Amino acid sequence: MSTLIVAVDGPAGSGKSSVSRAVATRCGFGFLDTGAAYRALIWWLLETNVDPADQARVAALLPEFPYAISIEPSHEAVTVDGTDITTAIRESRISDAVSAVAVNLEVRAFMKDLTRRLAAECEKPGIVIEGRDITTVVAPDAQARILLTAREEVRLARRAGEVAGASLADTQRSLRARDTKDSSVVNFLTAAPGVVPVDSSDLNFDQTVDAVYDIVRAKVSLP
Ligand code: C5P
Repeated sequence: MSTLIVAVDGPAGSGKSSVSRAVATRCGFGFLDTGAAYRALIWWLLETNVDPADQARVAALLPEFPYAISIEPSHEAVTVDGTDITTAIRESRISDAVSAVAVNLEVRAFMKDLTRRLAAECEKPGIVIEGRDITTVVAPDAQARILLTAREEVRLARRAGEVAGASLADTQRSLRARDTKDSSVVNFLTAAPGVVPVDSSDLNFDQTVDAVYDIVRAKVSLP
């Protein structure tokens, strides 16, 4: 990957998506939300009546996965076979099911290649890529690598505010279940060597963006 890479990992509710998007805008970089591809994949499997737990069947279908995403930070657009699913992939039925594909190692290998290809196609001077395994697996050589964390009660409160109609208890159950399943295949709760941790628990949104931006500025010469 020749484009300058800023890798950001973290658990659900750490704010990594909105913070990474804001940092990308400030740097004049592209932005890639890698969780969107996992969400789009599970959406597609459910839509086409494929059992996500059938790992071999899912792996065989990957070359046909008709996925596209905008890497423009000001324009969020995710499509599968031309259908806009930008909003649909945020539904709780998708969040609750997505780990079934995230634990499939052939899916993870496919997503790694997909992410690297999308990053290589970015025509901006750099790209902020966020997910769970970007600092460790997808882009371990990234110029800036950050792990965005927050205390669990803070992440729960943030997520409860985002999911319309969900009770705190339901949000808590679903977020904990997802973190547990996801962390069985990838460690996104502790920073790997060379990865800078940022705890956003006691920071507001703007302060978190400033903290991440300062790390990026210290690591790379911005245009
Ligand atoms: O970031 P987001 O919560 O949208 O990610 C959705 C799901 O995609 C995660 O719960 C995880 O199962 C999976 N994921 C992953 N590796 C990434 C990004 C997301 O396994 N790099």
